[in-house]
Amino acid sequence: MSDVVDVAIIGAGPYGLSLAAHLRAANVNYRHFGVPMRLWRGAMPQGMYLKSQGFASNLSDPAGRHTLEAFCQATSHPYQGYGLPVPLENFVNYGQWFQSQLDLKVEEVFVTGMARRGDGSGLTLADGEEFVARRVVVAIGVEHFAYLPQTLAGLPASMCTHSSAHTDLAAFRGQQVVVVGAGQSALESAALLHENGATVQVLARRNVIGWNGQPLNPVRPLLQRLREPEAGLGSGWSTWFYSNHPELFRRLPQRTRVYRARTALGPAGASWLRLRVEGQLPVRTGQTVTAATALDGKVQLTIAASDGRVTADHVIAATGYRIDLNRLDFLPDAIRSSLRTVGGSAAVGGDYQSSVPGLYFIGPSVAPSMGPVMRFVFGARHAATTVSRALAGVSGRTASAAGTADR
Ligand SMILES: Cc1cc2nc3c(=O)[nH]c(=O)nc-3n(C[C@H](O)[C@H](O)[C@H](O)COP(=O)(O)OP(=O)(O)OC[C@H]3O[C@@H](n4cnc5c(N)ncnc54)[C@H](O)[C@@H]3O)c2cc1C
Repeated sequence: MSDVVDVAIIGAGPYGLSLAAHLRAANVNYRHFGVPMRLWRGAMPQGMYLKSQGFASNLSDPAGRHTLEAFCQATSHPYQGYGLPVPLENFVNYGQWFQSQLDLKVEEVFVTGMARRGDGSGLTLADGEEFVARRVVVAIGVEHFAYLPQTLAGLPASMCTHSSAHTDLAAFRGQQVVVVGAGQSALESAALLHENGATVQVLARRNVIGWNGQPLNPVRPLLQRLREPEAGLGSGWSTWFYSNHPELFRRLPQRTRVYRARTALGPAGASWLRLRVEGQLPVRTGQTVTAATALDGKVQLTIAASDGRVTADHVIAATGYRIDLNRLDFLPDAIRSSLRTVGGSAAVGGDYQSSVPGLYFIGPSVAPSMGPVMRFVFGARHAATTVSRALAGVSGRTASAAGTADR
């Protein structure tokens, strides 16, 4: 058994790396586990662009100096805060640059077990090491939560995959591919498949595909800015609220929070993607897949509305992620059953602490507590500054743990 450590961070995506930057600056003794930027390197297609604007795609360090803009300047990549989509490759390299510039040590090993030990948690690593951390921050993003609809789940993996299974869509050149979904991931995957020589169609359950408008000019007249403010997650007053005030979102009634966390900023394609989809490939709306079978090496999908059939070589389910704590293998039943939940996620208080003392959650899994901003990189700053203050003991201890916060 190794020495006791003050803090363990589980996860090295934008949230985990940002928190590490803050803890390091605050001289907190911590250990950090996970594969840096793994979701971005291993579960997104080459050629993808970020949907978030450049200015809203920063990891957070206390001095605010290690921004995407600073990375682009240092490495001679083009950058604009608004209106210039960020290539996935740049963002992955930015994450690695952030880590090396700030000298953040990440141990590339997974946490496989956790148990309560006195005032802290005993953690087990995949390499067999066990140690105790006084406080643990779970920043595991969405990779454990890929959602495949029941109707598609019975198909063999050679014929049906979740969108997160692909980094190289050129592998489908010459094949017939159906993409199920209506969000950015579905539409961008379809565009990339088409551009890489696949015959692709999109089946969307919704009746209309949503497209985001062009980014607003940040220097437009004051009246226009007051009418429709621009914020990290997009424009408009509700979006401004979600972007900038997770601590107030947390005060909304639970039902409202759960609903908003799920539906705000719902499926829509980025404005720059529209021309690569419309008129280029079939996007069939109002199509609910009710059955799927493998037949003679092909997939046959049955569609509810038309009672029609669609045949393809492969189906890609761009059907998103659903947080489900039961899928976190490292969380034992004893801890899981002590966690107060909201919308299927761990409920957290104003300091991101769950109802299990010393166990914190940050990132997409706490959207029902802190709002939709947690589903985006932009929320990393709030999470990292708040949690690091709490963990460094300088928060004044005003925030309450989840067990009491929402009563
Ligand atoms: C296709 C796609 C496109 C997206 N585009 C955007 C965008 O343009 N802008 C935006 O703001 N957001 C975007 N998102 C949302 C994005 O997922 C989040 O903004 C962000 O990745 C959340 O960061 P995170 O640090 O919480 O988790 P992640 O980036 O998912 O990182 C999770 C980390 O946890 C680690 N981990 C997991 N399990 C364990 C374990 N048991 N032990 C140790 N480590 C573990 C992994 O190795 C990884 O390091 C997109 C998501 C997807 C799927």
